[in-house]
Amino acid sequence: MADRDAAADWLARSRAAVAATPLAPESLAVGRVERVADGIAQVSGLPDIALGALVRFEGGQLGFAHSLGISEIDVVICDDASAIEAGQRVIDTGGVLEVPVGEALLGRVIDPLGRPLDDGAPLPSWPTLPIERPAPAIIDRSEVTEPLETGVLVVDSLFSIGRGQRELIVGDRATGKTSLAVDAIINQRESDVICVYVAIGQPAAAVQRVIEAVHRHGAPERCVYVVGGAATSPGLQWIAPFAGMTIAEYFRDRGQHALIVLDDLTRHAATHRELALLTREPPGREAYPGDIFYLHARLLERAAKLSPELGGGSLTALPIAETDAGNLSAYIPTNLISITDGQIVLDTTLFAASHRPAVDVGLSVSRVGGKAQWPSLRQVSGRVRLDYAQFQELEMFTRFGGVPNARVQGRIERGKRIRALLTQPRFSGLSMVGQVAILAALAGGVLDGVSPARIPELRRRLPGWLEGTAGDEVSSVRASGRLDAAPRAALVAAVAALVKDMARGGEVQ
Ligand code: ATP
Ligand code: MG
Repeated sequence: MADRDAAADWLARSRAAVAATPLAPESLAVGRVERVADGIAQVSGLPDIALGALVRFEGGQLGFAHSLGISEIDVVICDDASAIEAGQRVIDTGGVLEVPVGEALLGRVIDPLGRPLDDGAPLPSWPTLPIERPAPAIIDRSEVTEPLETGVLVVDSLFSIGRGQRELIVGDRATGKTSLAVDAIINQRESDVICVYVAIGQPAAAVQRVIEAVHRHGAPERCVYVVGGAATSPGLQWIAPFAGMTIAEYFRDRGQHALIVLDDLTRHAATHRELALLTREPPGREAYPGDIFYLHARLLERAAKLSPELGGGSLTALPIAETDAGNLSAYIPTNLISITDGQIVLDTTLFAASHRPAVDVGLSVSRVGGKAQWPSLRQVSGRVRLDYAQFQELEMFTRFGGVPNARVQGRIERGKRIRALLTQPRFSGLSMVGQVAILAALAGGVLDGVSPARIPELRRRLPGWLEGTAGDEVSSVRASGRLDAAPRAALVAAVAALVKDMARGGEVQ
């Protein structure tokens, strides 16, 4: 910690020094713009500049050194490049790209350099941290043991995510990737988790929809939006995920819990490829430069659960990747799958059949979250995945006219109810106890008498009903995270009573 404070101190002083220096003092290196095109400026006269160093153009625009040649360097311009012309002066500020961090950002919409995009008050320009920071060392980490509840039944029960985990959300265009991540953010209104949503290359309207959804349903005062939208310069879009990580790490390093959504890294990879091709880096597979894997690995490695000595904070990452015609073996999706601790695969066919969230249960996996799942939820969700997978096969088989016997018919009926349960509208997160109750009831056969068409109604009424009829059990399971026989029986009985009430036509709540 002392080291970190010393580093922060040093940064504070060096940044203040840079801010105080007038343009082109003798102590700072001054270069000259030779050419400028496509958001990249070729600059001569800065032979000692470091890779990634922050430069300032004569008009105040910022940029960073992207590749270094013998006599010229390529600078990626982060601001509007229209006023930059050949012959202008450029100074090497001696610093690196930084973003403001801290509580002042909560609830704000900012660009990747920390400049406000909403109409709120100006942000304090201090404290700041570099956008590229080393990931915590293995010794500084601890095992992922606490769950990050998303409120989405299929995720929490089958692919539980732990605090500090990296779970990829991957699927074709418009399969509900953003919606799933936003539901996870919204569900944090009941928790202490701070959320950072990073938009990379997204249209402004899509970003607006996310912000509005969180405002309407979630806890906007604990959310930061970092927007490198489709209309911003490639430089800013490139910076966005790194800046978001730094902002989230600030909270992690203070012992708090943070969640970052990177929407999406396929576009980030495309921006990286664009910059690389413009700066004449040799293209590799699918024309991406060779360092694309390293770029994303070093980004996602920063999500971690810290050891108790470092405060025990956590940073969970939900990167999003887009596939083309479900092709998970394309370069960027495979890279990201191998970097992360699991993936939630969304499927176009399921989405079209209105099974939303369209999670492909066979292809999705969570490699570390199982250990972090609430014991209560683990106890009741064990068989669901198997039952559901069997049902999908049996359903396919009987679709071609096979006449099932009673046992098979029973499985199919149970499977239809599981599917109805896992189909969940947006903004209707279920609490852990609600999920436990409904899955325990399913295992106990209580839902066999409910038609799948009425499951959504059951799910909608469940939270209020449980609070009203089994309040003590709800609080005891919530507090302990475990499910003993007595509360289990009480929760199942409560669901059974709700089923009876529905059968009586009691839908007037
Ligand atoms: P893009 O590829 O454009 O980024 P995406 O994969 O992020 O798309 P979304 O924008 O999240 O997809 O969702 C596409 C549409 O599906 C939206 O209209 C959204 O409202 C709807 N949708 C997503 N999830 C659900 C759900 N669980 N229930 C009902 N509708 C949903
Ligand atoms: Mg999206």
